Amino acid sequence: MNIRLFKPSVGEEELANIREVFERAWLGNGPTVVKFEEAWSRYIGCKISVGVNSATAALHLALTAFHFPEGKKVLVPAITFASTAAAVLYNRLIPVFVDVDPGTVSMDLEDLQRKYDKDCVAVIPVHNGGYPVPMDRLMDIAEKLNLKVIEDCAHCAGGEYKGRKLGTWGHIGCFSFEEKKCMTTGDGGMICSDDIDLIEPLRAYRWVGIDKDTWRRAEKASGLTENEAMHWHYEISVLGYKYNMNDLAAAIGLAQLNKLDRMNERRAEIIAGYLNGIKSLNTIKPIFPYEPGNGAYWYFGIRSDRRDELIIYLKNKGIATGVHFYPLTLQPLFRQYTAGCETAERIWKEIITMPSHPDLTDEEIDYVLDSLKSFEEGFKI
Ligand SMILES: *Cc1c(COP(=O)(O)O)cnc(C)c1O
Repeated sequence: MNIRLFKPSVGEEELANIREVFERAWLGNGPTVVKFEEAWSRYIGCKISVGVNSATAALHLALTAFHFPEGKKVLVPAITFASTAAAVLYNRLIPVFVDVDPGTVSMDLEDLQRKYDKDCVAVIPVHNGGYPVPMDRLMDIAEKLNLKVIEDCAHCAGGEYKGRKLGTWGHIGCFSFEEKKCMTTGDGGMICSDDIDLIEPLRAYRWVGIDKDTWRRAEKASGLTENEAMHWHYEISVLGYKYNMNDLAAAIGLAQLNKLDRMNERRAEIIAGYLNGIKSLNTIKPIFPYEPGNGAYWYFGIRSDRRDELIIYLKNKGIATGVHFYPLTLQPLFRQYTAGCETAERIWKEIITMPSHPDLTDEEIDYVLDSLKSFEEGFKI
């Protein structure tokens, strides 16, 4: 057996869409990106989506949209991927690390209120592993404290909380289509919102500052359009980045979006199988209280106080595992911003991410479960 931790589920549907893009021979930022953005807005239920080349870019630009003064603070969870906090630094803002809830491994809303001070302007909740941050409570707190809310939905494309899609609770939602995430475009990301005026300017920021639309609005006033030879003209009024999505990625995204619900259902089935299989174990517990059939979980995670031994044991059985995530507060780059995230720095030592991609077979799940059981039995002497 050789069981991968992650595997993108791609095939004929994606290839057919790629072929179409090849036949048109337009691979860059073009009509397929627009089509994918519109399909995404409909799927999520938001007014505007802007496609970018990663969730890292999405988080960077989501914060840029608010034009916060340099040096203001943004609250982020201690356990997340580097990008969540890097986006804060890209914008010359200061990350304030919030400890995690010991039961759910996502942002502890009590600690958030303790860490808040009057320089805090925004909060980036991360639905870690697809387990939703209680967004109704968070939005109440954010409103009281006048915080903008950017949801990091890198782990929960298609997921819901209380019947409403994750990514539509906050002011902006950011999604990842990196190859390991719930759905993929190879690399890619999406910025979503109901606030068109807030998000529309990001089309220029993702395209080296070039805003054709602004130019079109201005052209009448300037009279430049009378001149046909001016078709090449555009306006640059902001410092942008090369963050656009391209048509090739969008073509894969359209096929993946069609399969997203099915892939999420399969992941839920896999998780239900795992939960059932580990029920009888005493030393291996689920990472958080999964409710399969409710939400989109990116991975199945477990806790074991013999974590490192278990990782090696599984590796020797051909089972790949991971750890999501080593707390950012322990990373050299972020250490200077640390202010008490004891829970994160304690519980990360127990957590393991198990293989749970949608192409995993039932035989493979049984094999993983048998391996977990034999590990526990090996210590019962
Ligand atoms: C993967 C990930 C990102 C970044 O996504 P990319 O598309 O790879 O840039 C951001 N936040 C979290 C929580 C992630 O896991």
